[in-house]
Amino acid sequence: MKILIVGGGMGGTILANNLAHRLKHELKQGKAQITMLSASDRHMYQPGLLYVSIGRMATDALYREQTSLLEPEIEFHVDPVTTFTLDQNQVTTQSGKTYGYDMLVIATGSRAMPETIPGLAENSVNCYTEANAIEMWRQVREFQGGTVTIAVGVPHKCPMIPLEVTFVLHDYFKERGILDKVKFQYTYPIGRIHSLAPVGEWAKGEFDRLGIQYETLFNMKEVDGANKVVHSEEGTQSHYDLLVAVPPHKGMAVIEENGLGQSGWIPTDRHSLKMEGRDNVYVLGDTTNLPISKAGSTAHFEAEALAENLAAIVKLGEPVRDYDGKVFCFIEAGSDRATYAMFNYNQPPAPKPPNRAVHWFKMAYNQLYWASARGLL
Ligand SMILES: Cc1cc2nc3c(=O)[nH]c(=O)nc-3n(C[C@H](O)[C@H](O)[C@H](O)COP(=O)(O)OP(=O)(O)OC[C@H]3O[C@@H](n4cnc5c(N)ncnc54)[C@H](O)[C@@H]3O)c2cc1C
Repeated sequence: MKILIVGGGMGGTILANNLAHRLKHELKQGKAQITMLSASDRHMYQPGLLYVSIGRMATDALYREQTSLLEPEIEFHVDPVTTFTLDQNQVTTQSGKTYGYDMLVIATGSRAMPETIPGLAENSVNCYTEANAIEMWRQVREFQGGTVTIAVGVPHKCPMIPLEVTFVLHDYFKERGILDKVKFQYTYPIGRIHSLAPVGEWAKGEFDRLGIQYETLFNMKEVDGANKVVHSEEGTQSHYDLLVAVPPHKGMAVIEENGLGQSGWIPTDRHSLKMEGRDNVYVLGDTTNLPISKAGSTAHFEAEALAENLAAIVKLGEPVRDYDGKVFCFIEAGSDRATYAMFNYNQPPAPKPPNRAVHWFKMAYNQLYWASARGLL
């Protein structure tokens, strides 16, 4: 049985290692084969970008060699897929090679697209790529006071980033002793300050306590860099001296170019994680069109469920479980405190008051992630 995984990020890597552990015997006997195709020989821990953008993490801490994270039985190639020929169970890569499969998993992730809002890319900072996080840190450390506006596009990756970036910047300016010169203006596209109602309720209390102003129903329309104003679709506007964006995202271009899903999101069954209309194609992580958080923990829990099912298909011919929508997100809340939101398709989150223990656990997780990616946690 040939299993082909396209994408070596959080979802693809956790899946591949988990499968290699479950199928050790079958891999040894040549009854199963796991191949991974990816676009990079390095694996990035994207949550670290938030800390890079406030000068709390060096960029080299973001990366590991992809081969150092994979079980030796996994065949790995840096050779991005350019064409998916699903009717023939094969993909073609940039180098011109063709790979066949019995089961295909697509986990190509998503990308920030600030350029889809006029003026946003040129006039704002964000922490969604290494280059942008470094530039954000430069502008944040040179900032001497004024209005920091946080503007949020939809859909975006990591639902907690709008809140986290606000809290960590508040903390940073407090530490620098210039908080009295900084006004925070947080904007959010829907009628509350977070998409998850209980998280919004909790965060509202924190914002009120810290004096962070907020405006809801604010969907970015365009940014007027000359006058330092963000205009909303609703006809309102927000002045800024430093504009911190959570840009809108799309799936990878290769997905849309191959007609697999509009805007790069692949229609996916929420329980089996099968691509709709396909029996042997599965989708993981940011690439799905599921209306749940685009987060590493989503990719992780999906990968665990899918590994169990793909291994069961190899061994028994049938999948054995459903993905239940489980997500677990840490929320950095400033002053060395954090909380978390855990939820699934049936149970909403109920964030508790933030504390130092959760913050230090998140700090530890920034290191433990590498063991988690290898399937050791
Ligand atoms: C600033 C920031 C903070 C975040 N904080 C958190 C957090 O605190 N908690 C949390 O849970 N999540 C967080 N996330 C989100 C999390 O990192 C992503 O949701 C997660 O990485 C998604 O995993 P994935 O496997 O779907 O995609 P990715 O990890 O992005 O991996 C995609 C892979 O596909 C490969 N690829 C791309 N195109 C091709 C191609 N054509 N062929 C083959 N391979 C290809 C890439 O090289 C990459 O290896 C954060 C993200 C950012 C940017």
